[in-house]
Amino acid sequence: MTDSLFVHPDICLQCAGQGRTCCELSDTGDEEFCFPLSDVERERIVAADAAHAQCFVFAPNTPGFVQQLGVLLPEYTVQTAFPESGFHWRLAITQTRQCVFLGPAGCVLDRALRPTYCQLFPLWVLRGQLTWFAAPECLAHAQCLSARNMLTAMHTTQAEVLSLFSTLCAGLHLSKVNA
Ligand code: SF4
Ligand code: SF4
Repeated sequence: MTDSLFVHPDICLQCAGQGRTCCELSDTGDEEFCFPLSDVERERIVAADAAHAQCFVFAPNTPGFVQQLGVLLPEYTVQTAFPESGFHWRLAITQTRQCVFLGPAGCVLDRALRPTYCQLFPLWVLRGQLTWFAAPECLAHAQCLSARNMLTAMHTTQAEVLSLFSTLCAGLHLSKVNA
């Protein structure tokens, strides 16, 4: 399968050529902290190919998971959406610690099918402001010193990032605290 909009931002192809990317866990990384998926995200991937139903894990909302999600989404009702007695879906990880959808030429899912978090990364929204993750493996983070450059490198716009972020929060049933 190829990406209908673009295969990958060029910088991601360069990044993949240099080593580990955001689609792989580090040696010390823990799948406990993988980002959760909404039902809509999982269902659209399975609707495209029923065999993909095997590509997800129903994982417990551990205290560490909830705490980390709260750090990423401090304005949102993380504890309500992810009660510590509950479970959430996440992408499965292979024995080589890669996302199950990572192929030799990058993600095998069309961009529109990918989890919203994947469509956003490394861009993010914190307290209403556009930002990005300072991930050590991310070549885009290493090379882009401004939000404008990052948006260009990732072939996106601020409007698209804000829209994707809203979609992500709605899909995970996250509301703004005191909203
Ligand atoms: S779904 Fe695709 S983009 Fe997302 S982590 Fe897996 S391989 Fe990477
Ligand atoms: S988003 Fe960052 S870490 Fe992921 S492939 Fe692109 S440059 Fe690499």
